[in-house]
Amino acid sequence: MTGKLGRRELLGVGAAGTLLGSFAYAHETDASDTSASKDVRLEFLRPKELEAARAACATIFQPLGTIEWHGVHNVVGVDAVKAHALCIRAAQAGGGVVAPALYGGVGGLSEAHTFIMDAEDDVFSRLLRPWLEQLCREMARDGYRAIIILTGHYGAAQQIVVRETAVRMSRALAIPVLGTPEYMLALDVDYTGDHAAWGETSLMMHLYPDTVRLSRLGDPPHRGVHGRDPKSQASAEDGRVLTETIVSRLATLARRMPTWDYKTLDRFVDAEAALVARQLAAPRGREPIWAAWSNIGTAMRDYGKLLAEERFEEIKACVTKLGVNG
Ligand SMILES: [Zn+2]
Repeated sequence: MTGKLGRRELLGVGAAGTLLGSFAYAHETDASDTSASKDVRLEFLRPKELEAARAACATIFQPLGTIEWHGVHNVVGVDAVKAHALCIRAAQAGGGVVAPALYGGVGGLSEAHTFIMDAEDDVFSRLLRPWLEQLCREMARDGYRAIIILTGHYGAAQQIVVRETAVRMSRALAIPVLGTPEYMLALDVDYTGDHAAWGETSLMMHLYPDTVRLSRLGDPPHRGVHGRDPKSQASAEDGRVLTETIVSRLATLARRMPTWDYKTLDRFVDAEAALVARQLAAPRGREPIWAAWSNIGTAMRDYGKLLAEERFEEIKACVTKLGVNG
């Protein structure tokens, strides 16, 4: 690990706004490498810094999450704080600014300390969808030329609502809007999304190591934990690999998306529309809403790489295999 990356990691911790995070952040602003300590958080920027950031790269990130039980070992804000930290690292590496994380979305576990703003599996979404639409409209009105909505909360309906809204806003605003859960950018390093299990816990062990209490877990199965056993399998090292994979792709997209011409925009929207249409249609009104996810780790394995490399036609070809072999 290089010293530069180490400082970025500290900066990511600082973005938490926690007491510890604030300390780490204040410490880092004294670092000699000012580029690594550049603040990209929208709510902490003045007009001059905002205008300079937007002139350099007119991308804005919108992290999404919620308040939800994430096992006895994790904080309840996992989804939003991890998405926020990933966006901050991506903006520092590739450009752009990061809007404050939005807490609240579609669904959540039937466990304590969980706020459910739209019902589980509700693809119609009375609250999240219009809120996202208005955010996108205001971001475009303020001069941003690309929007990346990264959701760290990933029920099936949440994912569908986020991606469908992004597709529609791309068309309506004529700028690229990507709406995706972060795990979709790391399918090729074997993360297919989980709940408070190996993947999310490893990410937290890397992004916010002081928040994880693996010792509070007994023997599996763990209450409200879905996926590989975090107690025996989660590690900060795995979290680092997931983080670097996701951040590198987000950074490339942040840098490139504002430069896309309309032809590229149309190719991107075409692939994203095909993906969300497949996710919405696969259940055919009878199967579980998760029907299109049964083989996502194989059918869409290269999605993150193909997206970052603007190989949209290949993404569209992958989409036709979704849910077919599951
Ligand atoms: Zn989560």
